Amino acid sequence: MSISFDLTGKTALVTGANTGLGQAIAVALAQSGASIVAVGRSAMDETERLCRDAGARFHPIHADLSSLEPIDRIVAEGAEFGRRIDILVNNAGIIRRADAIEFTEKDWDDVMNVNLKSTFFLTQAVARGMIADGAGGKIINIASLLSFQGGIRIPSYTASKSGLAGLTRLLACEWASRGINVNAIAPGYFVTNNTEALRNDPKRSAEILGRIPAGRWGNPADLGGAAVFLASSAADYIHGVVLPVDGGWLAR
Ligand code: NAP
Repeated sequence: MSISFDLTGKTALVTGANTGLGQAIAVALAQSGASIVAVGRSAMDETERLCRDAGARFHPIHADLSSLEPIDRIVAEGAEFGRRIDILVNNAGIIRRADAIEFTEKDWDDVMNVNLKSTFFLTQAVARGMIADGAGGKIINIASLLSFQGGIRIPSYTASKSGLAGLTRLLACEWASRGINVNAIAPGYFVTNNTEALRNDPKRSAEILGRIPAGRWGNPADLGGAAVFLASSAADYIHGVVLPVDGGWLAR
């Protein structure tokens, strides 16, 4: 059996695909042959251009994942465009920074709703389709180093990403026998909107850089290979892992 990373004929639904890591993942999947359903609340024109330049079909779905309201529409529209959804990448996520001692209920709920609650129920809805037609699929959750570590000043983010690692393992256990691979990628420190505040803080920025064995922050394109791998048949026997892509941070 030859090893293949080819995604030709597959449809991948990527949330938060307008920018940052979601955009890079969508483009990498497109370059590997997948059609892309991009879900997000902002314009996705740039991602559309990059995916079409790679020769991919592309369908944007505008939706705000802070509630469960758009989920049925996303799954129906995605499946209609792609015949079925073969690959789901749960990338949309937010972060709120404040000391734990004064953290607000709103900053707790807002983060949990997008990073964990909507992620779970979108995954459930997509997996129902994967199970119903018996063809299985690939689910990739975008976790974090805060799935392994505590961090500081981001209590709801750490809780959500630690929860997402647990959920990845639970769903892998329930669905591996149904032909669905559920895995996660834990990005290290990447240059995106998510880390703008950190990069603008000279002390924190230097501390972080000093601990990365690779000696640089990640560029979004550094994540593409891991996403393509986990989405491909090369990963058919991989279930429930949280794969760090972190320049060696966790090895330190
Ligand atoms: P980003 O540039 O802030 O991207 C976050 C994405 O999520 C954007 O597309 C954003 O859309 C979308 N999103 C947020 N709330 C949403 C909502 N209510 N409905 C729909 N979409 C929503 O940051 P990023 O770094 O690329 O983050 C992508 C994922 O990687 C997140 O889950 C993040 O936690 C994770 N991550 C990032 C790093 C890092 O170093 N950058 C490290 C570990 C994990 P808008 O642009 O419209 O807000």
